[in-house]
Amino acid sequence: MDSSKRKFLALSSVTIASSLYGSGNTNVPKEAIAIKSHKAPIPKTTKPRVVVLGGGWSGLSIAKTVKTFSPQADVILVEKRYEFISCPVSNLWLVDKVELDYITHDYLQAARNYNYTYFNATATGIDKKSRILKTSEGDIAFDYLVLSPGIDYDYSKWTTDTTLITRLKQEYPAGFIPGSEHITLKNKIHNFKEGNFILTVPGGNYRCLPAPYERACIIADYFKQKKLKAKVILLDENNAITIKKKGFSSAFDELYADYLEYIPNSVIQDIDLDKKIVTTEFDEFTFADAAFYPRVRGAKILETMGFAKDAKDMMEGHINALTYEVIGEENIFIAGDARPMGFSKSGNTSNSEGKYVGNLIARRINKEKIPEWEAPITLCFSIVSTKPMNAIYIYTRYAFDKKDKNPKNIKFIDWKNFSFTKTLSSEEWKKEGSVNANSIYSWADALYFDMFGPK
Ligand SMILES: Cc1cc2nc3c(=O)[nH]c(=O)nc-3n(C[C@H](O)[C@H](O)[C@H](O)COP(=O)(O)OP(=O)(O)OC[C@H]3O[C@@H](n4cnc5c(N)ncnc54)[C@H](O)[C@@H]3O)c2cc1C
Repeated sequence: MDSSKRKFLALSSVTIASSLYGSGNTNVPKEAIAIKSHKAPIPKTTKPRVVVLGGGWSGLSIAKTVKTFSPQADVILVEKRYEFISCPVSNLWLVDKVELDYITHDYLQAARNYNYTYFNATATGIDKKSRILKTSEGDIAFDYLVLSPGIDYDYSKWTTDTTLITRLKQEYPAGFIPGSEHITLKNKIHNFKEGNFILTVPGGNYRCLPAPYERACIIADYFKQKKLKAKVILLDENNAITIKKKGFSSAFDELYADYLEYIPNSVIQDIDLDKKIVTTEFDEFTFADAAFYPRVRGAKILETMGFAKDAKDMMEGHINALTYEVIGEENIFIAGDARPMGFSKSGNTSNSEGKYVGNLIARRINKEKIPEWEAPITLCFSIVSTKPMNAIYIYTRYAFDKKDKNPKNIKFIDWKNFSFTKTLSSEEWKKEGSVNANSIYSWADALYFDMFGPK
């Protein structure tokens, strides 16, 4: 950050305050004006500053990587949560197979180990011209900005009725953004007595393709062990299981025939929460309880900041898919599940992608050669049963495969030019399931260690 920008930041609060006072607006208390544009309470620096918005799998990986390869950078991680709760492995926590401790991690530990600053605040906007991120705790000037805010839900395919949307969020949360939604869902499962428990699989590139199928298996497994007169009804908007199809469909058929009904092509037309009836194009389902997972969209903060008119398209066409930079904005990047590229929206993808994005930023700071584009890695394990513990997995990388074979010659690449490649999977849960299940813990341990470092 050059000093002229910092001076501007200092001046801007004075200017705003004096112009408001000058306007004779006596109803506005002085304190309120001062709060409007104050600097965040972080140490001053003359070093290049990298601000990372979002301490999820993407932001944590990027903050660490930038600092590793460019120790001279002043890296600030802006995160609204006080602690990190992992979505991966959370399906096991729903049925008490792991402790909350195992999936909860410490932002302060990560910041100490990797020598960056964790700044607990909510980002609220941006002044692009002056290169300032606005947060609930003050303004932060940046030289490089990474936006990794994850996803928001998009209920518009089902309804635009805000009363219904609010009720769906509050009474039947999806459980795909960590925190209270997961706790509600866990209580629903544990308190369930009998009847249909509806889960949904959205269309589009939703967060964690296998997770709704894994969750259906785990809840059905729980009902089966408790010998409840209960059934999971899995309403899938897609025409078939979207990933690890062989493994999931054999688990549905062989393990949960009486406890799980999978219904593809289930485009929801109506949800009546009072009568507890879901109507799809072809059928009607009553339910005793449910968790409705709607479509996902790029986080709304990206719209608020003016990077897209409508982030529903996940910022398609707004990002250079090779550098992750917002088109027309130098050194402002969007990564993680908020990206438009057709990669799987997974923690492993975000973490491995974060190494590349972080390295790219570090090299720009160091004025070194920019790295070649590297494909992220999607490695994802899914539990299909808990007694015995069996799991399946998929490993995928991505490639350019259309006309533009050489990414170096491509100025801007549409995400549709990426495709899956080098896919491996292990879906024979009867043969390899227990080995895969053990690997889940090794995978999670390694990734948590990578993001947070030693305790
Ligand atoms: C049930 C479930 C199971 C899953 N299982 C797996 C799995 O087995 N393997 C796997 O690889 N992936 C899995 N995933 C997917 C994985 O959790 C996501 O892909 C991953 O979290 C995406 O990382 P991200 O950093 O882009 O977003 P997030 O992890 O959502 O992080 C975004 C962060 O930004 C913060 N934020 C947002 N807006 C603001 C703001 N305005 N100001 C400050 N902070 C803000 C949020 O608080 C959040 O911490 C699973 C997901 C779910 C829900």
